Amino acid sequence: MEASSPNRPFDTPAPPDALKPETLRTARFINELQSFGVRLAAPGAGAPSRRGGAGPSDHKAVLIDGQAIMAPVHTASAFTSPYVALAPDADGISVVERSGVPVGRISFPAAPRFYGLQTLDGVPYSHIATLHGRDVLATTVLQTCIRYESRKQTCQFCAIGQSLAAGRTIARKTPEQLGEVARAAVLLDGVKHMVMTTGTPNSTDRGAQILCESAFGVKSAVDLPIQAQCEPPDTNAWFQRMRDSGVDALGMHLEVLTPAVRAKIMPGKAKVGIERYFEAFAAGVEVFGRGQVSTYILAGLGDPVDVILETCRRLIAMGVYPFVVPFTPISGTPLEGRPSPTPSFMHAVLEPLGRMLAEAELRSGDVKAGCARCGACSALSAYERPSGEGTTP
Ligand code: SF4
Repeated sequence: MEASSPNRPFDTPAPPDALKPETLRTARFINELQSFGVRLAAPGAGAPSRRGGAGPSDHKAVLIDGQAIMAPVHTASAFTSPYVALAPDADGISVVERSGVPVGRISFPAAPRFYGLQTLDGVPYSHIATLHGRDVLATTVLQTCIRYESRKQTCQFCAIGQSLAAGRTIARKTPEQLGEVARAAVLLDGVKHMVMTTGTPNSTDRGAQILCESAFGVKSAVDLPIQAQCEPPDTNAWFQRMRDSGVDALGMHLEVLTPAVRAKIMPGKAKVGIERYFEAFAAGVEVFGRGQVSTYILAGLGDPVDVILETCRRLIAMGVYPFVVPFTPISGTPLEGRPSPTPSFMHAVLEPLGRMLAEAELRSGDVKAGCARCGACSALSAYERPSGEGTTP
């Protein structure tokens, strides 16, 4: 855990060359909130929090220095977090206290207007896609997964079936439904890009076909940049098909790196070896371009700092954006009792990684769509900024 005093939880020693002190302070504050979570004095403020579902969850979007981040609010550690966000004032500003001492200010993105609509056949739009961060529309086109259905195969961190079981989503979103909701989210709420993920339906295309149909459905309704996320399919030919269907950026998520840790944490998914991922990354970059292919790496599940950084170095050299995110334990999953990585662990990864990305000129802001562009699940994009581009003047 951090060695800082409780009254100055995210003040730090001398900053590294690459970051202005204020930028570094913001980055460290994000690490703190994402590691510990935050208790909310006014849980209803802003856009609704998210529970269960694919990917990171049990968190709520907050704005820090104008940057959207996801802060855990429904996890076990969040319930006992030293951080409390007070009720927002008349200007929408919420003071964050640690042990009763004000340490920062946040605000909340407004609840999206498209949540108030439903399809003609009565499906709420929010069951088809949700708002992530401030301006990202996110959907899981297929809410079932061959891996999740088996206790021995499931990824231990995943909650893809929870929101379905709770009736907060539907199993299969049709291309028409996705197009309808995406259009409304653009027109009513100004969303800027879309993330499409999927459970893995089979061991051949691994979801690529459904993503093609879904992207085509959205692009037929509205011009919105799309990132599609899936496991590497059986053949790289799928990447051109995805591009032709309207996908702008591709995500293939390693999640965990060390083979033994992969086999333990995600026994089913680990059957697709790391080298197949790297082969697919190279083919993906050829189709989508440098910086338009990304991967998600969950820090805090057993991979040491040097392994994460070495892998990121290899990815960056290929033109793949490594989006490193702190693991968040989701209630109801086998890893619900495992703590998130400490803020100092995240700093040890993200500070050199931010420098590597800046040196390679591979920036989240240049990604057309997706998690790497959104950046809300990690402090990484705050660490990317070179000297002179701090978030706080
Ligand atoms: S980084 Fe990805 S999963 Fe996280 S809030 Fe943004 S779009 Fe959603």
